[in-house]
Amino acid sequence: MKQQLFDLSGKVAVVTGGNGGIGLGMARGLAEAGAAIAIVARNESKSNDAVADLRQRGIKAIAVVADVTDKAAVAAMVERVTRELGRIDILINNAGINIRKPPHALEIEEWDRVIHTNLTSAFLCSQAVYPAMKAAGGGKIINIGSMTSIFGASFAPAYAASKGGIVQFTRSCACAWAADNIQANAVLPGWIDTDLTKRARQEIDGLHDKVLARTPAARWGAIADFAGIAVFLSSAASDFVTGTAIPVDGGFSIMG
Ligand code: NDP
Repeated sequence: MKQQLFDLSGKVAVVTGGNGGIGLGMARGLAEAGAAIAIVARNESKSNDAVADLRQRGIKAIAVVADVTDKAAVAAMVERVTRELGRIDILINNAGINIRKPPHALEIEEWDRVIHTNLTSAFLCSQAVYPAMKAAGGGKIINIGSMTSIFGASFAPAYAASKGGIVQFTRSCACAWAADNIQANAVLPGWIDTDLTKRARQEIDGLHDKVLARTPAARWGAIADFAGIAVFLSSAASDFVTGTAIPVDGGFSIMG
């Protein structure tokens, strides 16, 4: 029987950084649509909580403790997910960090940490799942960019470089793997209420209100705002959509 447009039952999704924030919002969306989920992150207890949250929705979920900047750990993660859940159809490269400093103050170790976590990890995970997706006859890769994929950021030079890079990496995979029926797309979140932005909210005077004033939707994003885009980009509904970078930002990026 032909699978329904947004139905993900029988599919398996890997969500890096899925133990909280945007990744958990996306994982919940995929779970609602029927996919089994592997949550990949470093913090074990937070990951176990996320898995319990997903299992409550009646789907299969596992926590894989791994640092996605480590090639061997990524290989072991893919091996375990394939062994325990049987396949990998969907990869969401969402793990990310920011270090808030201007370019003249950023240390090389800090630059490397941000680039490796936000960009190199997407390369490592995509490369590691590619053989399984190709063998299965197709797959979906979703990479998480940012408004800094479009705009510069005076206090986040490595972050902006990594997020600009994510878009071009996404397009490159989309071109390279289209013949394997693998679609790769990027999602560019606006300002979302998560742990990542907590520090900026504390450090930047009036940030909360500035974001409201600059966002046509006049609110901060919530992690639930990422469920729908995750399902769309993971499902048959987006089979002819590849290499795009879709803002999910309440209109932030169209404000002059
Ligand atoms: P969170 O801080 O809530 O989540 C980040 C996730 O990444 C955590 O689950 C963390 O888990 C995981 N992570 C970090 N480093 C590693 C690593 N080396 N290996 C494995 N997992 C790792 O932030 P958000 O949900 O806000 O961010 C998710 C993505 O969205 C990021 O890529 C971020 O850049 C992007 N984004 C967020 C925006 C926002 O306003 N919040 C705006 C634009 C983009 P653990 O620590 O357990 O490893």
